[in-house]
This record gives sequence, C-alpha cells and structure tokens, in this order.
Amino acid sequence: MSPVQAIAANLAQIRERVARAAARSGRRADEITIVAVSKTFPADAIRIAFDAGLRHFGENRVQEFESKQTALAGLSGAAWHLIGHLQSNKARRAVHLFDRIDSVDSISLARKLDASAKEEQRTIRILIEVHLGGEETKSGVAPSGLWELATEIMLCPHLLLNGLMTIPPYYDEPSAARPFFAELRELRNDLARKLGVSLPILSMGMSHDFETAIEEGATEIRIGTALFGSRPTKE
Ligand SMILES: *Cc1c(COP(=O)(O)O)cnc(C)c1O
Repeated sequence: MSPVQAIAANLAQIRERVARAAARSGRRADEITIVAVSKTFPADAIRIAFDAGLRHFGENRVQEFESKQTALAGLSGAAWHLIGHLQSNKARRAVHLFDRIDSVDSISLARKLDASAKEEQRTIRILIEVHLGGEETKSGVAPSGLWELATEIMLCPHLLLNGLMTIPPYYDEPSAARPFFAELRELRNDLARKLGVSLPILSMGMSHDFETAIEEGATEIRIGTALFGSRPTKE
C-alpha cells in the first residue's frame, strides 16, 4: 500500500471508531475534531493527510515544525497546534508559527505568549494543559494551580482561552484512563462556570484511548500513530 492509501485507510477506520464512540455516548461525530499529530513525520505525510480532508495538525516542537515550513507552503485552511511542552524562551517563535498553543501550563509562559502576540498584533488561542495523575512529568499545571493560571490568562488581552488539554497516565487497558478524562471535563465545567465564559474545547484522547475520551466529552482527539503508523525513532 502506498502512503496515500495507508493514511486514507487509517483515517476511514478512525472516523468509523469516532462515529461509534460518539453514538454510544449520545453525541454527534461532527462534534469531534481529529488533530493529526505529525511529529517525527515529514511534511509529505502532512500533505497527504491534508488531501485526505484533515485540517488540524499537532506538532510537539517549535524547531521541528520550523524545519517543515517551506515544504508546507500553500496548505491554506490548515490549523497548526503546538501540543508539546513549550519553554518560555521559544514563546515568540511559537506565536509566529502556530494558530493555537495547546500546552500552556504556567503564568510565566502565558505572559510571554501574551507579549509575543501583542508584538505580532494578534490574539492567540490557547488551551491550558492540566496534569492529572500525579506522576512526574515536565508539562501541565496541577489542578490546584488551575484557577490561578486561568484568572491570570483572563487578564492577558492577547490570549484567548478556549479550553483544557490533558495527557493521562498510560494504561494498557484504555478504559482505565476514564476517570482522568472525566476529571478534565469536570474541571472545565467548573472553571467555565466560575469565570463566566464558555470553554468549548476539551482536547483529550490519543490513538490508544480516544474512544474512552470521546465517551467522556472530548471535542478534540490527538491522533498520531493510528493515522500515520508507528513513529520512526524515539522522540
Ligand atoms: C505524540 C502525542 C500525541 C499522539 O500520540 P499517538 O499515541 O501517536 O496517537 C498526542 N498528544 C500529544 C501531546 C503527543 O505528544
């Protein structure tokens, strides 16, 4: 099978599984956006996915995405998401390259993004990444810090908070992640009510657990390997 056929076949399967998970939970499949996670894959793979109809793409690293820029010229209507941890010193390049930053997890980063967006004379849409599950990682704000971060973001005129994102701990049995997805939904509902704004986006669920995430209210699922195949090398 050519890469074009393989990606088209994978996408058809993913759409089918999205539709079934949505139906099981009384939701419409068109409420759920597939974000194609193209990290480690070349720009060609992104073009193929674009031609197959996808418009949302997630990249983990500023530098890697920068290196794909020339090859991606002309994909109009695509939305580029930064989904990996962002260091404050790369905030400016990130604002320049991406349509949305899905991994905002600190006040200092939020302030840098706000200042960079101001320089570019735009507002930038963001998600707060919440760290659930308590294991050691470098990204995500703990639920206990969510309110302070969110209220700070609300004071940043060039940031537009769209919702929350999480990466739950990995379990072989995908349904084991269900409580974390449910927790993110509750945190979102609570935060939206307290802030008096709508936070429509819940970005949760990856190749291995997206059906469970959809059952718990995901509006965006981030799919890498199920679409593009296994990643070439370690990250
Ligand atoms: C790599 C990655 C994904 C996609 O993972 P798959 O298991 O390949 O679907 C989703 N979200 C984030 C933040 C990632 O880094």
